[in-house]
Amino acid sequence: MTRRRVSVFGATGSIGGNTLDLIGRAPDSYDVIALSGGRNVALLADLARRHNAQIAVTAYDDCLPALRDHLAGSGIDCAAGAGAIVAAAERPADWVMSAIVGAAGLAPGMAALKQGATLALANKESLVTAGTLLMETAKRHGAIVLPVDSEHSAVFQALIGEDIATVERIVITASGGAFRDWPLADLARATPAQASSHPNWDMGQRITIDSASMFNKALELIETHEFFGIAPERIEPLIHPESMIHAMVGFVDGGIMAHVGPPDMRHAIGFALHWPERRALPVERLDFAALGQFTFRAPDEARYPALRLAREVMQAGGLSGAVFNGAKERALDAFIDGDLGFLEMAPVVEETLTAMAGDALLSGQMTLDTVAETDHLARVRAGEAIRARQSKRQD
Ligand code: NAD
Ligand code: MG
Repeated sequence: MTRRRVSVFGATGSIGGNTLDLIGRAPDSYDVIALSGGRNVALLADLARRHNAQIAVTAYDDCLPALRDHLAGSGIDCAAGAGAIVAAAERPADWVMSAIVGAAGLAPGMAALKQGATLALANKESLVTAGTLLMETAKRHGAIVLPVDSEHSAVFQALIGEDIATVERIVITASGGAFRDWPLADLARATPAQASSHPNWDMGQRITIDSASMFNKALELIETHEFFGIAPERIEPLIHPESMIHAMVGFVDGGIMAHVGPPDMRHAIGFALHWPERRALPVERLDFAALGQFTFRAPDEARYPALRLAREVMQAGGLSGAVFNGAKERALDAFIDGDLGFLEMAPVVEETLTAMAGDALLSGQMTLDTVAETDHLARVRAGEAIRARQSKRQD
Protein backbone atom coordinates (compact mmCIF):
# COMPACT_ATOMS: atom_id res chain seq x y z
CA MET A 1 0.00 0.00 0.00
CA THR A 2 1.29 3.47 -0.81
CA ARG A 3 1.89 5.68 2.16
CA ARG A 4 -0.32 8.77 2.41
CA ARG A 5 1.15 12.13 3.25
CA VAL A 6 -0.87 13.76 6.04
CA SER A 7 -0.76 17.08 7.89
CA VAL A 8 -2.66 18.04 11.03
CA PHE A 9 -3.34 21.70 11.84
CA GLY A 10 -4.41 22.15 15.45
CA ALA A 11 -2.51 18.96 16.31
CA THR A 12 -2.30 19.77 20.04
CA GLY A 13 -6.08 20.12 20.45
CA SER A 14 -8.85 17.66 21.09
CA ILE A 15 -9.56 16.86 17.42
CA GLY A 16 -5.85 16.96 16.55
CA GLY A 17 -5.04 14.48 19.33
CA ASN A 18 -7.77 12.09 18.23
CA THR A 19 -6.56 12.36 14.63
CA LEU A 20 -2.99 11.50 15.59
CA ASP A 21 -4.27 8.67 17.77
CA LEU A 22 -5.77 7.05 14.65
CA ILE A 23 -2.74 7.83 12.47
CA GLY A 24 -0.41 6.43 15.16
CA ARG A 25 -2.23 3.08 15.08
CA ALA A 26 -1.07 2.51 11.48
CA PRO A 27 2.34 4.20 11.31
CA ASP A 28 3.34 2.31 8.14
CA SER A 29 0.40 3.81 6.25
CA TYR A 30 1.27 7.49 6.72
CA ASP A 31 4.03 10.02 6.32
CA VAL A 32 3.33 12.93 8.63
CA ILE A 33 4.29 16.18 6.90
CA ALA A 34 3.26 19.13 9.10
CA LEU A 35 1.82 19.56 12.59
CA SER A 36 0.73 22.88 14.10
CA GLY A 37 -0.16 24.02 17.57
CA GLY A 38 -0.32 27.04 19.84
CA ARG A 39 1.50 27.75 23.12
CA ASN A 40 1.79 24.14 24.22
CA VAL A 41 5.11 23.63 22.41
CA ALA A 42 6.25 20.74 24.64
CA LEU A 43 3.24 18.72 23.47
CA LEU A 44 3.67 19.88 19.87
CA ALA A 45 7.32 18.82 19.85
CA ASP A 46 6.46 15.51 21.49
CA LEU A 47 3.82 14.78 18.84
CA ALA A 48 6.21 15.81 16.05
CA ARG A 49 8.89 13.43 17.38
CA ARG A 50 6.47 10.58 17.96
CA HIS A 51 5.00 10.85 14.45
CA ASN A 52 8.27 11.78 12.80
CA ALA A 53 6.83 14.95 11.24
CA GLN A 54 8.79 17.03 8.72
CA ILE A 55 7.87 20.32 10.37
CA ALA A 56 6.20 21.60 13.54
CA VAL A 57 4.73 25.11 13.58
CA THR A 58 3.53 27.16 16.55
CA ALA A 59 1.05 29.96 15.93
CA TYR A 60 3.03 32.31 18.17
CA ASP A 61 6.40 33.92 17.33
CA ASP A 62 7.41 34.17 21.00
CA CYS A 63 7.03 30.37 21.34
CA LEU A 64 9.57 29.58 18.61
CA PRO A 65 12.72 29.46 20.81
CA ALA A 66 11.07 26.99 23.20
CA LEU A 67 9.81 24.86 20.30
CA ARG A 68 13.30 24.85 18.80
CA ASP A 69 14.75 23.70 22.15
CA HIS A 70 12.24 20.89 22.44
CA LEU A 71 13.05 19.70 18.91
CA ALA A 72 16.84 19.97 19.23
CA GLY A 73 18.63 17.02 17.63
CA SER A 74 15.44 15.61 16.05
CA GLY A 75 16.05 16.96 12.54
CA ILE A 76 12.45 18.22 12.51
CA ASP A 77 12.01 21.73 11.07
CA CYS A 78 10.23 24.35 13.13
CA ALA A 79 8.60 27.70 12.40
CA ALA A 80 6.19 30.20 13.96
CA GLY A 81 3.34 32.52 13.04
CA ALA A 82 0.16 32.48 10.98
CA GLY A 83 2.13 32.81 7.72
CA ALA A 84 4.31 29.84 8.62
CA ILE A 85 1.20 27.74 9.26
CA VAL A 86 -0.08 28.60 5.78
CA ALA A 87 3.34 27.80 4.28
CA ALA A 88 3.23 24.42 6.04
CA ALA A 89 -0.22 23.82 4.56
CA GLU A 90 1.28 24.45 1.13
CA ARG A 91 3.68 21.53 1.58
CA PRO A 92 2.39 18.71 -0.65
CA ALA A 93 0.09 16.36 1.27
CA ASP A 94 -2.68 13.96 0.32
CA TRP A 95 -4.88 14.53 3.38
CA VAL A 96 -5.01 17.54 5.67
CA MET A 97 -6.87 17.82 8.96
CA SER A 98 -8.17 21.33 9.66
CA ALA A 99 -8.58 21.37 13.45
CA ILE A 100 -7.47 24.84 14.50
CA VAL A 101 -10.21 26.49 16.56
CA GLY A 102 -11.67 29.74 15.23
CA ALA A 103 -11.34 31.89 12.13
CA ALA A 104 -7.56 31.29 12.11
CA GLY A 105 -8.30 27.88 10.58
CA LEU A 106 -9.53 29.29 7.29
CA ALA A 107 -6.26 30.32 5.59
CA PRO A 108 -4.37 27.04 6.11
CA GLY A 109 -7.43 25.08 4.94
CA MET A 110 -7.59 27.19 1.78
CA ALA A 111 -3.87 26.61 1.17
CA ALA A 112 -4.38 22.84 1.49
CA LEU A 113 -7.23 22.93 -1.04
CA LYS A 114 -5.15 24.98 -3.48
CA GLN A 115 -2.53 22.24 -3.58
CA GLY A 116 -5.29 19.69 -4.23
CA ALA A 117 -5.24 17.93 -0.85
CA THR A 118 -8.33 16.31 0.61
CA LEU A 119 -9.40 18.58 3.44
CA ALA A 120 -10.89 16.93 6.53
CA LEU A 121 -12.76 19.88 7.99
CA ALA A 122 -13.31 20.03 11.73
CA ASN A 123 -12.88 23.82 11.65
CA LYS A 124 -16.55 24.73 11.13
CA GLU A 125 -15.61 28.42 11.28
CA SER A 126 -14.17 28.04 7.74
CA LEU A 127 -17.63 27.29 6.37
CA VAL A 128 -19.36 29.88 8.54
CA THR A 129 -17.03 32.74 7.62
CA ALA A 130 -16.29 31.84 3.99
CA GLY A 131 -18.39 28.85 2.86
CA THR A 132 -18.77 29.94 -0.75
CA LEU A 133 -15.09 30.77 -1.11
CA LEU A 134 -13.97 27.49 0.46
CA MET A 135 -16.27 25.26 -1.59
CA GLU A 136 -15.49 27.11 -4.84
CA THR A 137 -11.77 26.88 -4.17
CA ALA A 138 -12.10 23.13 -3.65
CA LYS A 139 -14.00 22.79 -6.93
CA ARG A 140 -11.51 24.90 -8.87
CA HIS A 141 -8.57 22.82 -7.68
CA GLY A 142 -10.26 19.44 -7.91
CA ALA A 143 -9.90 19.04 -4.15
CA ILE A 144 -12.34 17.35 -1.79
CA VAL A 145 -13.74 18.69 1.49
CA LEU A 146 -14.93 16.06 3.95
CA PRO A 147 -16.90 17.19 7.01
CA VAL A 148 -15.55 16.09 10.39
CA ASP A 149 -18.09 17.77 12.66
CA SER A 150 -20.03 14.73 13.94
CA GLU A 151 -23.42 15.99 12.72
CA HIS A 152 -22.11 16.83 9.25
CA SER A 153 -20.20 13.59 8.92
CA ALA A 154 -23.49 11.89 9.85
CA VAL A 155 -25.42 13.78 7.14
CA PHE A 156 -22.66 13.09 4.61
CA GLN A 157 -22.85 9.37 5.40
CA ALA A 158 -26.67 9.33 5.23
CA LEU A 159 -26.45 10.92 1.77
CA ILE A 160 -24.13 8.32 0.23
CA GLY A 161 -25.85 7.05 -2.91
CA GLU A 162 -28.70 9.56 -2.54
CA ASP A 163 -29.73 12.48 -4.73
CA ILE A 164 -29.49 15.71 -2.70
CA ALA A 165 -32.56 16.99 -4.61
CA THR A 166 -34.67 14.38 -2.78
CA VAL A 167 -33.77 15.71 0.66
CA GLU A 168 -36.72 17.27 2.43
CA ARG A 169 -35.14 18.09 5.78
CA ILE A 170 -31.97 17.73 7.78
CA VAL A 171 -32.19 17.36 11.55
CA ILE A 172 -29.07 18.38 13.44
CA THR A 173 -29.05 17.14 17.01
CA ALA A 174 -27.67 18.99 20.03
CA SER A 175 -26.92 17.65 23.50
CA GLY A 176 -28.05 20.93 25.04
CA GLY A 177 -24.63 21.44 26.65
CA ALA A 178 -23.73 22.08 30.25
CA PHE A 179 -26.83 24.15 31.12
CA ARG A 180 -29.60 22.23 29.41
CA ASP A 181 -31.36 21.56 32.72
CA TRP A 182 -30.63 24.90 34.39
CA PRO A 183 -33.50 27.36 34.99
CA LEU A 184 -33.18 30.34 32.65
CA ALA A 185 -32.96 32.67 35.67
CA ASP A 186 -29.66 31.07 36.76
CA LEU A 187 -27.94 31.37 33.38
CA ALA A 188 -27.10 35.06 33.82
CA ARG A 189 -24.66 34.10 36.60
CA ALA A 190 -23.15 31.05 34.88
CA THR A 191 -19.34 31.07 35.05
CA PRO A 192 -16.80 30.01 32.40
CA ALA A 193 -15.79 27.05 34.59
CA GLN A 194 -19.39 25.85 34.77
CA ALA A 195 -19.85 26.30 31.01
CA SER A 196 -16.65 24.39 30.27
CA SER A 197 -17.86 20.96 31.33
CA HIS A 198 -19.79 19.06 28.68
CA PRO A 199 -22.20 16.25 29.66
CA ASN A 200 -21.30 13.94 26.72
CA TRP A 201 -18.38 15.12 24.59
CA ASP A 202 -14.77 15.76 25.58
CA MET A 203 -13.80 18.82 23.49
CA GLY A 204 -11.75 22.02 23.57
CA GLN A 205 -12.90 24.75 25.97
CA ARG A 206 -14.25 27.14 23.33
CA ILE A 207 -16.56 24.68 21.57
CA THR A 208 -17.69 23.36 24.96
CA ILE A 209 -18.84 26.83 26.04
CA ASP A 210 -20.40 27.32 22.59
CA SER A 211 -22.35 24.11 23.20
CA ALA A 212 -23.81 25.51 26.41
CA SER A 213 -24.91 28.73 24.67
CA MET A 214 -25.97 26.86 21.49
CA PHE A 215 -23.64 29.10 19.49
CA ASN A 216 -22.04 25.82 18.43
CA LYS A 217 -25.36 24.60 17.05
CA ALA A 218 -25.92 27.99 15.41
CA LEU A 219 -22.56 27.65 13.66
CA GLU A 220 -23.54 24.13 12.65
CA LEU A 221 -26.82 25.22 11.06
CA ILE A 222 -24.84 27.62 8.89
CA GLU A 223 -22.24 24.91 8.25
CA THR A 224 -25.01 22.56 7.03
CA HIS A 225 -26.41 25.23 4.73
CA GLU A 226 -22.99 26.06 3.27
CA PHE A 227 -21.70 22.51 2.88
CA PHE A 228 -24.80 20.73 1.57
CA GLY A 229 -26.50 23.70 -0.13
CA ILE A 230 -29.76 23.03 1.73
CA ALA A 231 -32.25 25.87 2.25
CA PRO A 232 -32.20 27.27 5.82
CA GLU A 233 -35.85 26.40 6.49
CA ARG A 234 -35.12 22.73 5.81
CA ILE A 235 -32.49 22.53 8.56
CA GLU A 236 -33.84 21.78 12.04
CA PRO A 237 -31.96 21.79 15.35
CA LEU A 238 -33.21 19.20 17.86
CA ILE A 239 -32.16 18.60 21.45
CA HIS A 240 -31.19 14.97 22.00
CA PRO A 241 -29.55 14.74 25.43
CA GLU A 242 -28.01 11.27 24.86
CA SER A 243 -25.88 12.47 21.85
CA MET A 244 -26.18 9.08 20.14
CA ILE A 245 -28.08 10.15 17.02
CA HIS A 246 -25.83 12.73 15.38
CA ALA A 247 -28.12 13.79 12.55
CA MET A 248 -31.09 12.62 10.51
CA VAL A 249 -31.85 13.16 6.84
CA GLY A 250 -35.49 13.09 5.77
CA PHE A 251 -36.30 12.38 2.12
CA VAL A 252 -39.31 13.30 -0.06
CA ASP A 253 -40.80 9.82 0.35
CA GLY A 254 -40.99 10.25 4.14
CA GLY A 255 -38.05 7.94 4.85
CA ILE A 256 -35.52 9.14 7.39
CA MET A 257 -31.91 7.99 7.67
CA ALA A 258 -30.46 8.49 11.15
CA HIS A 259 -26.77 8.17 11.91
CA VAL A 260 -26.19 6.59 15.32
CA GLY A 261 -23.00 6.06 17.27
CA PRO A 262 -21.27 6.78 20.57
CA PRO A 263 -20.09 10.36 21.20
CA ASP A 264 -16.51 9.69 20.10
CA MET A 265 -15.02 11.98 17.46
CA ARG A 266 -12.71 9.23 16.26
CA HIS A 267 -15.64 7.86 14.24
CA ALA A 268 -16.10 11.04 12.18
CA ILE A 269 -12.33 11.64 11.97
CA GLY A 270 -11.67 8.03 10.96
CA PHE A 271 -14.47 8.10 8.40
CA ALA A 272 -12.81 11.14 6.77
CA LEU A 273 -9.35 9.55 7.04
CA HIS A 274 -10.36 6.33 5.28
CA TRP A 275 -13.01 7.72 2.90
CA PRO A 276 -14.16 6.45 0.42
CA GLU A 277 -13.47 3.16 2.19
CA ARG A 278 -14.78 2.12 5.58
CA ARG A 279 -12.26 0.59 7.93
CA ALA A 280 -12.42 -0.72 11.50
CA LEU A 281 -12.26 2.06 14.11
CA PRO A 282 -11.61 1.81 17.86
CA VAL A 283 -14.96 3.22 18.97
CA GLU A 284 -17.41 1.65 21.40
CA ARG A 285 -20.15 -0.53 19.88
CA LEU A 286 -23.60 0.44 21.14
CA ASP A 287 -25.81 -1.91 23.13
CA PHE A 288 -29.30 -0.60 22.40
CA ALA A 289 -31.11 -2.75 24.92
CA ALA A 290 -28.79 -1.42 27.63
CA LEU A 291 -29.33 2.15 26.44
CA GLY A 292 -33.10 1.65 26.66
CA GLN A 293 -34.28 4.89 25.11
CA PHE A 294 -33.41 7.99 23.13
CA THR A 295 -35.18 11.22 24.00
CA PHE A 296 -35.75 14.48 22.12
CA ARG A 297 -37.03 17.97 22.80
CA ALA A 298 -37.46 21.13 20.79
CA PRO A 299 -34.87 23.82 21.47
CA ASP A 300 -36.39 26.91 23.05
CA GLU A 301 -35.35 29.77 20.77
CA ALA A 302 -36.01 32.32 23.53
CA ARG A 303 -33.43 30.52 25.66
CA TYR A 304 -31.04 30.12 22.75
CA PRO A 305 -31.14 33.35 20.67
CA ALA A 306 -28.02 32.14 18.80
CA LEU A 307 -30.30 29.85 16.75
CA ARG A 308 -32.45 32.77 15.58
CA LEU A 309 -29.34 34.78 14.73
CA ALA A 310 -28.01 31.86 12.65
CA ARG A 311 -31.21 31.90 10.57
CA GLU A 312 -30.83 35.64 9.99
CA VAL A 313 -27.22 35.11 8.93
CA MET A 314 -28.18 32.35 6.48
CA GLN A 315 -30.84 34.62 4.96
CA ALA A 316 -28.40 37.53 4.64
CA GLY A 317 -25.60 35.33 3.25
CA GLY A 318 -22.30 36.71 1.92
CA LEU A 319 -19.94 38.07 4.53
CA SER A 320 -22.50 38.17 7.34
CA GLY A 321 -21.23 34.76 8.49
CA ALA A 322 -17.81 36.34 9.08
CA VAL A 323 -19.47 39.10 11.14
CA PHE A 324 -21.41 36.53 13.15
CA ASN A 325 -18.38 34.37 13.85
CA GLY A 326 -15.98 37.25 14.56
CA ALA A 327 -18.43 38.85 17.01
CA LYS A 328 -19.10 35.47 18.62
CA GLU A 329 -15.37 34.81 19.09
CA ARG A 330 -14.88 38.26 20.64
CA ALA A 331 -17.89 37.82 22.96
CA LEU A 332 -16.61 34.38 23.96
CA ASP A 333 -13.17 35.85 24.80
CA ALA A 334 -14.91 38.44 27.00
CA PHE A 335 -17.01 35.76 28.73
CA ILE A 336 -13.91 33.64 29.41
CA ASP A 337 -12.11 36.73 30.77
CA GLY A 338 -15.04 37.54 33.08
CA ASP A 339 -15.91 40.76 31.23
CA LEU A 340 -19.28 39.59 29.91
CA GLY A 341 -22.15 37.56 31.34
CA PHE A 342 -23.16 34.26 29.76
CA LEU A 343 -26.49 35.66 28.55
CA GLU A 344 -24.83 38.82 27.20
CA MET A 345 -22.90 37.02 24.44
CA ALA A 346 -25.89 36.73 22.10
CA PRO A 347 -26.97 40.40 22.49
CA VAL A 348 -23.39 41.51 21.74
CA VAL A 349 -23.37 39.40 18.57
CA GLU A 350 -26.79 40.73 17.57
CA GLU A 351 -25.74 44.35 18.19
CA THR A 352 -22.65 43.77 16.03
CA LEU A 353 -24.70 42.24 13.20
CA THR A 354 -27.07 45.21 13.33
CA ALA A 355 -24.27 47.79 13.48
CA MET A 356 -22.52 46.27 10.47
CA ALA A 357 -25.61 45.38 8.40
CA GLY A 358 -25.25 48.35 6.03
CA ASP A 359 -21.45 48.32 5.87
CA ALA A 360 -20.15 48.62 2.30
CA LEU A 361 -17.60 45.89 3.07
CA LEU A 362 -20.42 43.34 3.33
CA SER A 363 -21.69 43.92 -0.19
CA GLY A 364 -18.22 43.34 -1.66
CA GLN A 365 -16.65 40.18 -3.00
CA MET A 366 -15.72 37.30 -0.73
CA THR A 367 -11.95 36.82 -0.74
CA LEU A 368 -9.54 35.75 1.99
CA ASP A 369 -8.73 39.46 2.49
CA THR A 370 -12.33 40.68 2.75
CA VAL A 371 -13.19 37.82 5.10
CA ALA A 372 -10.22 38.73 7.33
CA GLU A 373 -11.15 42.42 7.20
CA THR A 374 -14.78 41.65 8.09
CA ASP A 375 -13.67 39.37 10.91
CA HIS A 376 -11.41 42.10 12.30
CA LEU A 377 -14.09 44.80 12.09
CA ALA A 378 -16.65 42.51 13.75
CA ARG A 379 -14.27 41.94 16.67
CA VAL A 380 -13.71 45.71 17.00
CA ARG A 381 -17.45 46.42 16.93
CA ALA A 382 -18.21 43.61 19.37
CA GLY A 383 -15.47 44.99 21.64
CA GLU A 384 -17.26 48.38 21.62
CA ALA A 385 -20.56 46.71 22.49
CA ILE A 386 -18.86 44.84 25.35
CA ARG A 387 -17.28 48.04 26.72
CA ALA A 388 -20.62 49.87 26.50
CA ARG A 389 -22.18 47.14 28.65
CA GLN A 390 -19.32 47.30 31.14
CA SER A 391 -19.57 51.05 31.58
CA LYS A 392 -23.37 50.79 31.97
CA ARG A 393 -22.80 48.29 34.78
CA GLN A 394 -20.40 50.67 36.52
CA ASP A 395 -22.89 53.59 36.43
P1 NAD B 1 -8.93 22.74 20.98
O1 NAD B 1 -9.04 24.02 21.70
O2 NAD B 1 -8.83 21.48 21.75
O3 NAD B 1 -7.67 22.80 19.98
C1 NAD B 1 -7.50 23.88 19.13
C2 NAD B 1 -6.19 23.79 18.37
O4 NAD B 1 -6.03 25.00 17.61
C3 NAD B 1 -4.95 23.67 19.26
O5 NAD B 1 -3.96 22.91 18.57
C4 NAD B 1 -4.48 25.13 19.37
O6 NAD B 1 -3.11 25.24 19.65
C5 NAD B 1 -4.80 25.64 17.99
N1 NAD B 1 -5.02 27.08 17.94
C6 NAD B 1 -5.80 27.83 18.77
N2 NAD B 1 -5.80 29.12 18.38
C7 NAD B 1 -5.02 29.19 17.27
C8 NAD B 1 -4.63 30.25 16.40
N3 NAD B 1 -5.04 31.50 16.58
N4 NAD B 1 -3.82 29.96 15.35
C9 NAD B 1 -3.39 28.69 15.14
N5 NAD B 1 -3.71 27.66 15.93
C10 NAD B 1 -4.52 27.89 16.98
O7 NAD B 1 -10.18 22.69 19.97
P2 NAD B 1 -10.96 21.41 19.41
O8 NAD B 1 -12.05 21.05 20.34
O9 NAD B 1 -10.01 20.37 18.97
O10 NAD B 1 -11.66 22.04 18.13
C11 NAD B 1 -10.96 22.31 16.93
C12 NAD B 1 -11.97 22.64 15.83
O11 NAD B 1 -12.79 21.49 15.60
C13 NAD B 1 -12.93 23.77 16.18
O12 NAD B 1 -13.24 24.48 15.01
C14 NAD B 1 -14.16 23.04 16.69
O13 NAD B 1 -15.34 23.78 16.50
C15 NAD B 1 -14.14 21.81 15.78
N6 NAD B 1 -14.83 20.65 16.35
C16 NAD B 1 -14.39 20.08 17.48
C17 NAD B 1 -15.04 18.97 18.00
C18 NAD B 1 -14.52 18.28 19.24
O14 NAD B 1 -15.05 17.22 19.61
N7 NAD B 1 -13.50 18.78 19.92
C19 NAD B 1 -16.16 18.46 17.36
C20 NAD B 1 -16.60 19.07 16.20
C21 NAD B 1 -15.92 20.16 15.68
MG1 MG C 1 -20.82 19.10 16.11
